[in-house]
Amino acid sequence: MKAVRFHAPGDVRIEDVPEPTPGPGDVKIRVRNCSTCGTDVKISKFGHHHIHPPRVMGHEIAGEVVQTGAEVTGWAAGDRVQVIAAIPCGTCAECRRGRMTVCPHQESMGYHYEGGFAQYLVVPAKVLAVDGLNRIPDGVGYAEASVAEPLACVLNGQELARVGPGDDVVVVGSGPIGCLHVRLARARGAARVFLVELNRERLELAAALVHPDAAICGSDVDPIDEVLKLTDGRGADVIITAAASGAAQEQAVQMAARQGRISFFGGLPKDNPVISLDSNLVHYRELTIVGANGSSPAQNAEALRLIATGSVPVSDLITHRLPLEQAIDALGVVARGEAIKVTIEP
Ligand SMILES: [Zn+2]
Ligand SMILES: [Zn+2]
Repeated sequence: MKAVRFHAPGDVRIEDVPEPTPGPGDVKIRVRNCSTCGTDVKISKFGHHHIHPPRVMGHEIAGEVVQTGAEVTGWAAGDRVQVIAAIPCGTCAECRRGRMTVCPHQESMGYHYEGGFAQYLVVPAKVLAVDGLNRIPDGVGYAEASVAEPLACVLNGQELARVGPGDDVVVVGSGPIGCLHVRLARARGAARVFLVELNRERLELAAALVHPDAAICGSDVDPIDEVLKLTDGRGADVIITAAASGAAQEQAVQMAARQGRISFFGGLPKDNPVISLDSNLVHYRELTIVGANGSSPAQNAEALRLIATGSVPVSDLITHRLPLEQAIDALGVVARGEAIKVTIEP
């Protein structure tokens, strides 16, 4: 079969590899869509400490069951499925407390296990053990279903930041994750959603799709001033930074309303993770700063439901559908920010 494999930083190849065989507890699927994200670009350029090459990349996976291991029950050939990316152990102290996104033993598809940029994929027994294989509801296509994984991460971020009815929400970063944040905030009842982005073209591309109440170009105006103006000096109830930018995180704290919540949704580069923070703003204004690390199996199931019910439409965010043979070009499109969501159809 054809697969996209990471060999070394800067060395990603489309090659012929043997079709995988499922073990007794595994399920084999024919991958129909595996969508790309910024993480794939990062891996292709820099590698990852959990990836021992060669490794099939891709973690936003949807497909059709073609074979089940002898011990597998409840799944059959022809079932349409979505696969979680982050696999919690399900048994440690955090998992037992329901905190599956911070399981210290977490493994991932496309990192510890072969990923979805391939014609076939084995879903490991470990995924099934934590309810990480989801039936795709009728009426939801494979491409949309593949977006359930990033939407689940966005859902995790908004649950932790308690986005709810009446909130003024600022989303910083207008990539696919930023767009999903805008849509989900609306679905959760936000009063207004403002989108901030440095690159004007990317901002306009995103704003035309998700229609924020204000689109703020951070290279033309000061986003803090703008948000304060839009909120009569109050600030925003929630600020979500969906960008790998320490400056954005620092600004986020400055534009928060009293009792505001700030989500550091996007991580910072490993070599530059320190920001400066006026701790008294947090203290006197009773701010809450939260992180976000992937998503739980339950959040993947909920994300699929949000897509199926139309609460969070995603099909119009999929701007590029490319065959596996063009996966490397696809990573270039993602890296240059020319697309919202690019999906691979192996
Ligand atoms: Zn991703
Ligand atoms: Zn665990």
